Amino acid sequence: MKYKDILYQDIAYVKGIGPDKAKILNEELKIFSVFDLLNYFPFRYENRSAIHSIESINFTINYIQIKGYITDIKTDKFGNRNVLIAKIKDASGSIELVFFNGIKWLSKFLRTGKNYLVYGKVNQFRDTYNILHPEIEEATEDAIQFKARWCGVYNITERLKKSKWKIDSENIRKWIFNIYQAYPQLQIAENLSHEILIKNQLISRQDAYKWIHLPDNEEQIHPSVNRLKFEELFFAQLDIARQHKKMKQNKGFVFQNVGELFNEFYHQCLPFELTNAQKRVIKEIRNDTKTGKQMNRLLQGDVGSGKTIVAVFSALFAIDNKYQVAMMAPTEILAQQHFFTISKLLHPLPVNVHLLTGATAQKERKIIHEQLLSGELNFLIGTHALIEDNVQFKKLGLVIIDEQHRFGVAQRAKIQLKEAIPPHVLVMTATPIPRTLAMTIYGDLDVSVLDELPPNRKPVVTAHRYYSKNLDVLCFVKEQIDTGRQAYFVFPLIQESEKMDLENLEKGYEELKKFFSDYILVKVHGKMSNEEKDAAMHAFYKGEAQIMVATTVIEVGVDVPNASMMVIENANRFGLSQLHQLRGRVGRGSEKSYCILLTNNHLSEDAKIRIDTMVRTSDGFEISEVDLKLRGPGELAGTRQSGIMNFKIADLTTDFSLLKAAREAAAELLEKDEHIQHPENWPIREYILQNEKEKKRGRKRG
Ligand code: ADP
Ligand code: MG
Repeated sequence: MKYKDILYQDIAYVKGIGPDKAKILNEELKIFSVFDLLNYFPFRYENRSAIHSIESINFTINYIQIKGYITDIKTDKFGNRNVLIAKIKDASGSIELVFFNGIKWLSKFLRTGKNYLVYGKVNQFRDTYNILHPEIEEATEDAIQFKARWCGVYNITERLKKSKWKIDSENIRKWIFNIYQAYPQLQIAENLSHEILIKNQLISRQDAYKWIHLPDNEEQIHPSVNRLKFEELFFAQLDIARQHKKMKQNKGFVFQNVGELFNEFYHQCLPFELTNAQKRVIKEIRNDTKTGKQMNRLLQGDVGSGKTIVAVFSALFAIDNKYQVAMMAPTEILAQQHFFTISKLLHPLPVNVHLLTGATAQKERKIIHEQLLSGELNFLIGTHALIEDNVQFKKLGLVIIDEQHRFGVAQRAKIQLKEAIPPHVLVMTATPIPRTLAMTIYGDLDVSVLDELPPNRKPVVTAHRYYSKNLDVLCFVKEQIDTGRQAYFVFPLIQESEKMDLENLEKGYEELKKFFSDYILVKVHGKMSNEEKDAAMHAFYKGEAQIMVATTVIEVGVDVPNASMMVIENANRFGLSQLHQLRGRVGRGSEKSYCILLTNNHLSEDAKIRIDTMVRTSDGFEISEVDLKLRGPGELAGTRQSGIMNFKIADLTTDFSLLKAAREAAAELLEKDEHIQHPENWPIREYILQNEKEKKRGRKRG
């Protein structure tokens, strides 16, 4: 058989597996072929390479492996339990092996005079030692080769453990061992160029696959893991880089002139001085939009860093050049908010701004559609309903997407398709993303960062309080409101317990109403009608209501500078980035602001870390790093659907330098050999082609 055929062979044919176990491996671990099995990597190793002499056992030794022959087997009673004791001896001494289970089988299996390999936990018993329930097997050549080495430990699901074969990590290792016993020369085609291997000091793919599972010594483990991680990151980065390159070649509209509107806005209407960061980013956008290439830019800026005004300036570039602008927000509330802020800012200028959401009435919708087609409408703000089908622009020049993490890459792609020359795209996100992730998720975008907050911002004083101090908290809020401020009370709401959460919110709302009987309270949650939500939001905006009781619908973008108090109920139930986003709703004006995290006394370890982090820092990037560590990359906002996080072996929380190296290697490759055609890069090309083929067939192999 050719090696390729072996790799693609059904695992049912692997020695020790068979059709029944193959089926459960298919179902539980998605392992179908031999190569799938080889791609199931151990997550740690146990050093069993040494066989110790029995004499060397002392109280400092925890687990030990010994080899010897059995001199004596006896069964006995220990209380009311049966026990089997086998005495094993090597050249240096002897020790007792003690078994309470499997006695029947053991009495048949164990023979005096025969050699066994034993591995187990050492117990001290009075002044002697014994080993309780060790692993034991006949000390054949194969067994020693299999057992007495560095052993990979594999993840096993509950169902595998509980199956009738009690499949464990050792089984997996054994099957892989069997594969390599049967095909010692099993070949796995190299998929990196010689140059990349040398430059990054990587071992061959073939060695890496063998050694990651069956290292002969400790020194082989790290290079294998490293090599396979690199490979995984490299191909992900290469993919992104190629996409990026492709995007970079898209033709784009040329915004020739910085025109009247821009200047007038800048000189007459701007309510504050721009921060240097804002100026820099506006310049970057200006430069992008005059090159004749499409802009695809990500604007990252922590909550409150002033992204909206950057969006407005970008829009004016377009409108000055007679193009239309669409701005999309993830929620209706946020779309309304943007509309409200932006139309107020642009009010003195002859710019026609409209709002289009699911709630827009049919009649108005019709007018909007007409004005869009005639070009009368300059700036349309809405939810992602905007890019949905029947909305047609006369000359759409710029699309601004706020809070990107709710928008998938797929949705962005949709924008690309709409026109022959696609509009420029500015994506804004307030979710600070650790650098590693940003490179990976947004690798196809150019990145701008607003790394400076507008001046005179006072940090939000953040405190953790237990519910036993609830009354103090309420009194404090009252004091603040009496000085003219407004306050949010935020309740958790998650899908799994939505009904109960809503009940809690209602209950909380009623209680707060009693306490704040002299004030006006409004509430906002996702289950209310749009009209109700609108009315509540407006009352709060205008300062008619002093207190807003809400769920996380206010998480993104809501901007009421006079609201300087936030109380987060059951704060332990919120994710870290969510808490950070929520807190970003206060501290927007010049008043000193407060965020109080209320919890019960019993907090999980993770919840403690989340709360402590919030109290300690307001740096979004620092918070995102902690979040990443706590939850892992797959759980971070929006990354799950991007699919890009499903690494088999690489770990973006720890493999930053490897990621960087892989990224550089990918960039360099494309620079020297854009179409990956040079003979020395054929291994790479071959692998990409093969994967594309496999993807079409539905399953990825090697
Ligand atoms: P975000 O980046 O979270 O979207 P916003 O654009 O909503 O932030 O801005 C937050 C607040 O800061 C707004 O009230 C806005 O008017 C104000 N702001 C923005 N830029 C500046 C600036 N350069 N100086 C003073 N205030 C600013
Ligand atoms: Mg915003």
